[in-house]
Amino acid sequence: MNFNIQSKLPQAGISIFAKMTALAQQHQAINLAQGFPDFSPPKELFDFLNEAVWSGFNQYAPMPGLLHLREQIAKRILGRYQFQADTQTEILVTAGATQAIYTIISAFVRPGDKVLIFEPAYDSYGPAVVVNGGIPVYLKLNLPDFSIPWDQLEDVLARESIKMILINNPHNPAGRILQESDVKNFEALSEKYKILMVWDEVYDMLVFDGNNHISALSYPGLMESSIVVFSMGKTLHNTGWKIGYTIAKPQLTKEISKVHQFLVFSVNTPAQYAIAKFMELQPGFINALPGFYQEKRDYFLKSMASTGLQFHPCEGSYFAIAQIPEDYKGSDVKYAEDLVQHQKVATIPVSAFYHDGYDPGLIRFCFAKTQETIDAAVSRLI
Ligand code: PMP
Ligand code: GLN
Repeated sequence: MNFNIQSKLPQAGISIFAKMTALAQQHQAINLAQGFPDFSPPKELFDFLNEAVWSGFNQYAPMPGLLHLREQIAKRILGRYQFQADTQTEILVTAGATQAIYTIISAFVRPGDKVLIFEPAYDSYGPAVVVNGGIPVYLKLNLPDFSIPWDQLEDVLARESIKMILINNPHNPAGRILQESDVKNFEALSEKYKILMVWDEVYDMLVFDGNNHISALSYPGLMESSIVVFSMGKTLHNTGWKIGYTIAKPQLTKEISKVHQFLVFSVNTPAQYAIAKFMELQPGFINALPGFYQEKRDYFLKSMASTGLQFHPCEGSYFAIAQIPEDYKGSDVKYAEDLVQHQKVATIPVSAFYHDGYDPGLIRFCFAKTQETIDAAVSRLI
């Protein structure tokens, strides 16, 4: 039978992250492409995971997440952002930030609704909007500093009826952070145009040089129409555990939870148990992350200086982007492919973060790696 399938995502292939990781394996290259640490999560987490399964935490968790975990999340969010999240009505534990973002979009975006996405953007945003019948409206961040194009944004908001804006801060892949004035501008726009704002703050603890992460959670007016998304994978070095969460006012959390209930119902119980216990007993671990990753960033950039590659400033996240040499004639994809094949270092071409393949001549490196990995990569790039 020749069954005719009309794809909802005709353009989608395998993700650039999976593709570059596969190429890295094929060429025995050092993988500085996909964003994940190559060092271990804290060992206590393993003990707590073991304890969870042996003490009977093997069945469905409550739909919004284990209460103990929601309590630990509430404590962290209160301490850091002065947002008092109600554990019953304002926190939802998800299978990572990717599921959280999809679920939020699915809960609010109806066919024909427009969603504004700044590019470069994390690869799941656009497809999640499209699958749910929405229309992504793309706006490029200003180059070379990846700042918000405020005038263009105002034009778009005045012209089009935008239902939702997705904002990523700290930014992947740019490594830039928003200032207080930026967040206040968004607050004013959200009030003026009545727009839902989704804040992807998965790298909230990866902010450097004494800067504070400016979270939407610290702005009560903004939180009336905002949902903030976090990922445990980025804070506990365990991206494969796929635990994340959303924080939003009860009326918003209620709608997200309805979709969550029918999408996954609840997420991995032992992982939630282990993370809750770890957060309770080792609160200092997460608080030490800015210093831990700043050291990695500094070591990475200092070591990479000898390769001649020109890096953009990295204020946050665990990514740094470098300029493709001006005398290189091909695309950024070709450059990244050459690098993995000949120099045996895998990176991500930044055009992958633009829906139309726009090529700003940049590649992204992940520096969540051991010094040995960074040293080995540098020695191959010199
Ligand atoms: N948003 C951004 C900006 C990311 O970089 C990532 C993952 N690297 C995610 C969301 C997804 O996080 P998770 O792995 O928890 O799904
Ligand atoms: N977010 C990670 C990155 O930017 C990868 C996540 C994924 O592979 N989907 O590299």
